[in-house]
Amino acid sequence: MHIITAEQVASTLSWQQTVAVLKQAMIEVSQGRIQAPLRTAMPVSANNLMGIMPGAMENPSVHGIKLLSLYPDNPKKGLSSHQGLMVIFDSPTGTPIATLEADALTALRTPAATLLATNHLARKHAKTHTILGGGEQAERHLEAFLACGNATQIRLWARRPEAAKQILKKINAPAHVSVIEDLEEAVHGADIVTCVTAAPTAILKGVWLEPGQHINLVGSSVPQYREIDSEGVTLLRYFVDYRPSTKAQAGEYLEELEKGNITEDYIVGEIGEVLNGDIEGRTSDQQITAYKSLGVAPQDLSVSWAILQKLGLVDSE
Ligand code: NDP
Repeated sequence: MHIITAEQVASTLSWQQTVAVLKQAMIEVSQGRIQAPLRTAMPVSANNLMGIMPGAMENPSVHGIKLLSLYPDNPKKGLSSHQGLMVIFDSPTGTPIATLEADALTALRTPAATLLATNHLARKHAKTHTILGGGEQAERHLEAFLACGNATQIRLWARRPEAAKQILKKINAPAHVSVIEDLEEAVHGADIVTCVTAAPTAILKGVWLEPGQHINLVGSSVPQYREIDSEGVTLLRYFVDYRPSTKAQAGEYLEELEKGNITEDYIVGEIGEVLNGDIEGRTSDQQITAYKSLGVAPQDLSVSWAILQKLGLVDSE
């Protein structure tokens, strides 16, 4: 059994390589060659959960489970809010092969999945990108988009501006990245807006949205949370990573469906269907597209497998 550390998870694949792995994985998801039971979140104590995320894929032929402690107050203690393990099994034999550090894995696959969706849904010449969030995912999204996005201006907003400033300092951000303190101003003029906060209620208002924007909704991953308000939801051409989890766990979708503001056909499609050419992504420069990310097990499985291959621990076919 191989044990892959956080440092190895973070340093083995480039962002580009991770995006390429996820491209194939998301096509597998949308073509049904995977198993991805809904993630469960078991209460551990008042504010804390244990997330359990199993899955299986045909290509690569692996299955496994991600186990995460979801402790929102951990950053105050200098710990990640998402600590855990990914256990990988070889499906042909059922043999457990490896355990990977799952905080680093989640912080790798989530921004890479956002990057992949953005590359296919945002306008071709999108140049200004605003990231909303001041935690680990915001930092890793910034790194991913700096490494392979096309933005010539990136603005980082966090509810505590010092958190955004710290991120810029930590990653030694180049001059075209800046901290912006006013939220509405942060959204104004942005071609891409990536929401990656742990906000329980909407921070992004529909009244601020502008034609042609692309919105990534990454942060709210439980049904009780949402990052965009009702008006915003009605303006979006809404793509998702995986329909079954959106229908069960996407806060803004469930609340608006309940209120009767949208119907079940609101979900235009999965990103894998766009990647595969089965459905059209953006069809005009005026549309406001959105990518709802909840995360899906094949992302963790395929990226883990690619890391193991690159480390020479499993066969590369
Ligand atoms: P962190 O705990 O590291 O950071 C959370 C950030 O959200 C902090 O900057 C925090 O600000 C901010 N925040 C909390 N409440 C609010 C609010 N009401 N308004 C504005 N900002 C707020 O978490 P991560 O960065 O690791 O994760 C961010 C979110 O993304 C989480 O909700 C997580 O569940 C989700 N996630 C989604 C994944 C997916 O696949 N879609 C994968 C992994 C995570 P402050 O520091 O001031 O408290």
